[in-house]
Amino acid sequence: MKIVIAGAGAMGSRFGVMLHQAGNEVLFVDGWESHVQAVNEQGLHVNDNGEEKIFHIPAVLQSKVKEDTQADLIILFTKAMQLDQMLQDIQSLIHSDTKILCLLNGIGHEEIIEKYVAPTHILLGNTMWTAGMNGPGKVTLFGNGTVALKNLAPEGVEDAKEVVDVLNSSGLNATYSENILFAIYKKACVNGTMNGLCTILDSNMADFGETTTAHEIVEAIVTEFSLVAKNENVELNVKEIVDYIEMNCYNRDTIGLHHPSMHQDLILNNRLTEIDYINGAVVRKGKKYGVPTPYCAFLTSLIHCKEQILKAH
Ligand code: NAD
Repeated sequence: MKIVIAGAGAMGSRFGVMLHQAGNEVLFVDGWESHVQAVNEQGLHVNDNGEEKIFHIPAVLQSKVKEDTQADLIILFTKAMQLDQMLQDIQSLIHSDTKILCLLNGIGHEEIIEKYVAPTHILLGNTMWTAGMNGPGKVTLFGNGTVALKNLAPEGVEDAKEVVDVLNSSGLNATYSENILFAIYKKACVNGTMNGLCTILDSNMADFGETTTAHEIVEAIVTEFSLVAKNENVELNVKEIVDYIEMNCYNRDTIGLHHPSMHQDLILNNRLTEIDYINGAVVRKGKKYGVPTPYCAFLTSLIHCKEQILKAH
């Protein structure tokens, strides 16, 4: 299958490498010039669970995508704020049978994708795989993961199942999920609490979780997500999700000592965050549905203040 990875950062590289190893024809499309150059000139240097490997997979700058390239499947893996520009730049790759799979964190990306692609070709998903970037042309892959996905429009069911098979043939552990919006919202609750809070507080998840006010704040934020989700026919049980966060994220023996990715992006690397597509999306949807979202609004504003103080870009 001809597969374009649109956004070949940490996660795009991880998926691209695994799909390439399974024999698919993979092309990386990316907006970071020095990364594209490094991948083309020195290969993609991958630390795969401690083992150093180099992969030669072609990469092209998104502003220079050629008219004559077409894709069977495009996997979107930009950061959320880069998605619109990426879709504008890859228009020529999308033909009448191209399937578009969005695996970004956050909620509401379909509203952007639908500006460029018919809903029948859009697949939404989320993933528990992880990866990190160490600089241009260098990524680290750790652990195992899963992917869940579903077609946005009912007509897309066959496409979705075909993509599940392609991902599974590459070891990406994919499933067709009837309840993908629930999975997307549940993950957004984890990101909507841990990412913003640990970034503003400059804390790992376990240290935050042990504060006397953590429970109250997390519960308030998850409640806002659940009230908004209810208006989209997604039932989130607040107690279950808060329990899930507290059991998983604060565990010092597993991931509790980690700083969430937003902390790494903003505090360590001075990069802009995806807050507008996580808590900020809840604020926008809350306004639309008449649901008050004061905690999400405050956290979104604080993160924007921090971005400006640190002159993130
Ligand atoms: P990433 O930051 O590694 O890459 C996203 C884009 O930013 C790529 O185009 C990349 O080339 C570019 N980029 C990265 N570092 C840059 C730098 N220093 N300067 C300029 N450009 C740079 O993002 P990611 O971690 O691959 O995440 C993609 C999406 O997947 C996001 O929505 C994220 O929330 C989600 N996600 C990430 C993980 C993870 O473990 N990293 C897990 C699940 C979901």
